[in-house]
Amino acid sequence: MKLLSFKGGIHPPHNKELTEHLPVEKAIETKIVYIPLAQHIGAPCSPVVNVGDIVKVGQAIGEPQGFVSSPVHSSVSGKVIAIKPMTTPGGQMTTCIVIENDFNDEIHESIMPYGEVKDLSSEKLLEIVKNAGIVGMGGATFPTHVKLSPPKEKNIDVVILNGAECEPYLTADHRLMLETPEDVVNGLLGIMKILGVEKGYIGIEDNKPDCIASVSKAAQGINSIEVVGLRTKYPQGAEKQLIYACTNREVPSGGLPMDAGVVVNNVATAAQLAKTIRTGMPLIDRICTVTGGAISNPKNILIKIGTLYSEIIDQAGGFKTQPSKVISGGPMMGIAQFTLEVPATKGSSGILCFTYDEAKAKEVQNCMRCAKCVNICPANLQPLFISAYSLKNDYKKAMEFRALDCIECGSCSFVCPSARPLLQSIRVAKREILAQKRKESK
Ligand code: SF4
Ligand code: SF4
Repeated sequence: MKLLSFKGGIHPPHNKELTEHLPVEKAIETKIVYIPLAQHIGAPCSPVVNVGDIVKVGQAIGEPQGFVSSPVHSSVSGKVIAIKPMTTPGGQMTTCIVIENDFNDEIHESIMPYGEVKDLSSEKLLEIVKNAGIVGMGGATFPTHVKLSPPKEKNIDVVILNGAECEPYLTADHRLMLETPEDVVNGLLGIMKILGVEKGYIGIEDNKPDCIASVSKAAQGINSIEVVGLRTKYPQGAEKQLIYACTNREVPSGGLPMDAGVVVNNVATAAQLAKTIRTGMPLIDRICTVTGGAISNPKNILIKIGTLYSEIIDQAGGFKTQPSKVISGGPMMGIAQFTLEVPATKGSSGILCFTYDEAKAKEVQNCMRCAKCVNICPANLQPLFISAYSLKNDYKKAMEFRALDCIECGSCSFVCPSARPLLQSIRVAKREILAQKRKESK
C-alpha cells in the first residue's frame, strides 16, 4: 500500500502503547449524570424537561435552538434533580440537566431500529443524523447534519473519514476501528448517500496496521470505498492535510473542505450514525481513552455522556501518583483542566493525566530565528511573526501574515527550542481578528 502524506508536520512520540491493545470496557454506571445543553459548536439547547421529571435512556432532554445546534439526550433512566450551570471540559459554564440514575436502564419508547442504510432515503438519513444529536466526535463537535447540508452550489464528490488519530496517547478511534469496523464502513455509506457522493476514503495512519486490515476487510467488495494508509505524522488528521493526502486537492486559503469538493468526518462520527441506524439509539455514549503516567490502569472506556471526569478516572483505578496536569482530548490540541468535576461530553475523546516529568514545561526564551516553526507548519505559515504581532496587539499585521489560516495544531509550539507561546498567542490573534470582522459586518 502506497503511503500518503502532506507537507510539514512533526513526529511527536506516540505514547499509545499504554492502551492501544486494550479492548473497550463498558463503564460502570454512576449515580448522577450531568448532561450539558451545549456540547457542540453553535447555539446551546433549551431544556425540554423540568426538575422532578422522570426520563428514560435516549429521551431528548434538550432541544436545538437554530440550525447550527444539536439535540441532547439522556444517557440513563431516572429523575431530573436539578438544572444548573456547571463548568464543562471546554472551560465554559454551561447549563446541565442533572439526572439521578435509577439503574433500571429503561429505554425510551421512541427508540426503534431504523433498518439498513440501503433501505433509507437520503432525506431520512439526514433526519436521523440531526435527531440523534450526532456531532463531530474527533473533538470538534460541529453538528454533523450541518456539515452534511452543503450549499447547493458546492459540488461535493468525495467523502473522507478521518481514522488518522494522530494525537499522541489517544486510542479511542483505534479500538473503534478494530472492534466495530462494519459500523465505520456502514456509516460512511450512509454519509455518501446523504451527499449523493460515489467516492469515499477512509484514511488511517500506518502506525495502526491492524486497523487498516480490519477496516479493509469490512469494506471488501465495496468498490466505492477505498482504505488509504497515511504516513504517521502530526497533524495528519487535520482536514486540509487529510484532503491533500487522500486526493491531492488543496483547500484554498480561508476556504473550507467543501471548496475542494470534499466533506470530512471522523470515523467515530460515521460509526455513531451506523449504530443509531442499527439500534435507534441517539448519541449518548462514546469511547474515551483514560491514560498518562499518573493513571493506575490506563483504559479505553465506553463512557456515558454526563459522567464526571473524576468518576471516569476512578474507573481507571484512580491516580497512582498526583498528576501535574490533566488534559481533556489529546496533548497537542486538548484543553488543560482545572477541576475534575466536569461532565463528559460528546467530544471527550480522552482524559490524559500527566506526571510532572510528562508535563514539565521549558522556560520561555527569546526567539532565536531558527525557523523551525516555519519549516514544520503544515499550513505554510510563519508562526514566529504572527505570534510576535499578536503579542504586540497588532492584529492587523497578524492577519496580513494569514493568522486565520492557522489550524491550531500546536506543532510550532512543540518544536520551538525557545518554548515561545506560539499557539496561544496565535489563537488570541485569531479570536481578535474574527471579533473585529463580526463588529465590522454589523
Ligand atoms: S501556526 Fe498554526 S498551523 Fe502552523 S504549526 Fe502553528 S498551530 Fe499549526
Ligand atoms: S521555532 Fe521558536 S525560536 Fe525558532 S523561529 Fe520559531 S519562534 Fe523563533
